[in-house]
Amino acid sequence: MYQLNNLARQIEKQLPARLVEFMQEAGLVAAAQGQNLYLVGGVVRDLLLGRANLDLDLAVTGNAINLAWRLAGTIPAAKLTPNRHFFTAKLSWENWSVDLATTRSETYARPGALPRVLSASIEEDLFRRDFTINAMAVELIPGRWGEVIDLYGGRDDLEKGLIRILHEDSFIDDATRIWRGLRYEQRLDFKLEPKTLRLLKRDLPMLETISGDRIRHELELALKEELPEKVIRRAANLKVLPEVHPGLKGDDWLARKFEEARQASAPNPPSVELYLALLAYWLTEDQTGKLISYLRLRKSHARTLEESGLLKAELKALAEPALAPSRIYLLLHEYGLPAVTANYLATDSPTIKKHIGLFLTKLRNVKPSLTGRDLAKLGTAPGPQMKEVLRHLLEARLDGKVTSKKGEVEMVEGWKDSIMKSPIFLSLDGRGIKR
Ligand code: ATP
Repeated sequence: MYQLNNLARQIEKQLPARLVEFMQEAGLVAAAQGQNLYLVGGVVRDLLLGRANLDLDLAVTGNAINLAWRLAGTIPAAKLTPNRHFFTAKLSWENWSVDLATTRSETYARPGALPRVLSASIEEDLFRRDFTINAMAVELIPGRWGEVIDLYGGRDDLEKGLIRILHEDSFIDDATRIWRGLRYEQRLDFKLEPKTLRLLKRDLPMLETISGDRIRHELELALKEELPEKVIRRAANLKVLPEVHPGLKGDDWLARKFEEARQASAPNPPSVELYLALLAYWLTEDQTGKLISYLRLRKSHARTLEESGLLKAELKALAEPALAPSRIYLLLHEYGLPAVTANYLATDSPTIKKHIGLFLTKLRNVKPSLTGRDLAKLGTAPGPQMKEVLRHLLEARLDGKVTSKKGEVEMVEGWKDSIMKSPIFLSLDGRGIKR
């Protein structure tokens, strides 16, 4: 299978008919304009491996944007997003999306810089790629349809299960390839080829040349893998992870928690945000702040990491065995769901876990049956008084002191004298609350 010279059958078997039809049409149009057209990158690797992959990357000699316009004209309601700087275009229609790029070479002004892009031959285009298994192409023009171009031993490496860079300076040019390599290695159960591994270790300092934004992107891709803990563990062992933050660990604890996160969120995979919160769980507040600003985490993710740390510091309050549900609610309801979930997974205390579990599965959804409008009819003044009555009703609901709408009405009637007319609202447990 790995040594096939022609992938026509695999294309027709593994890809949806609509995409095959699109590629055939694209091949015809390209050929009529004197262009060559290729399927490139990960999808070629996955066709050979028999793995599902619908991310089509096409490379064309000459102008990709013009070809994309021509093709867009043949598809009703197609949307085209060109990028003139990189000679690329994304073509989308219905549920489909295809990337087209001009075959190109890339040169790097300095390590880690974005590349200078020049249009070039398919040979050069394949040589600028990260690993041999990602540096193969398949011909798409009629007459050569399905023929494999494998100039750098990609099929041999697929067969041997090796991740191999194409030249000595690959990680220096672009150290994000270090993270990419670990991802493919762990996803495919391959091994970094010995020389690639040696160069990866040599070039670890090059990770410093990469912006936090790009490292975050790589880390997020790692966390979207089926078993991200494998990538994180390997990154920790190879000292790649400490380059993100020296306090991060890829140990057995993390692997166990990631697995528990998957069980808790099945059938969907856990969010990247939840994985991130677990990865950063043992960092101090100060370290978390540094990680957030280095990776330039988006606001919602940053908030989750911060809240997760704050809640971690408050967890002891949830360890008391006989806590009233209203108290559990009070301790947790102001934190976002991912931060609460991270702490649920992270704690090893059965009591704390039970309490957070109760909050997640039940308490957070509890609401009084009476609405503001109902309360107004019962004589409650809108504003702080109404807020206070609703809070009392919620507490009573949470603690099972009331279980029906009728019961709530009776409760409110009963409070009329004691609470609603008083300038000071007394809460049910006797704590005084000033208006
Ligand atoms: P995945 O299955 O993870 O999506 P992919 O191989 O499709 O993998 P993309 O990130 O979509 O990966 O990139 C498409 C192709 O572009 C890769 O297969 C590789 O040939 C090339 N490529 C992507 N990023 C780099 C990089 N940093 N350096 C060199 N080549 C790259």
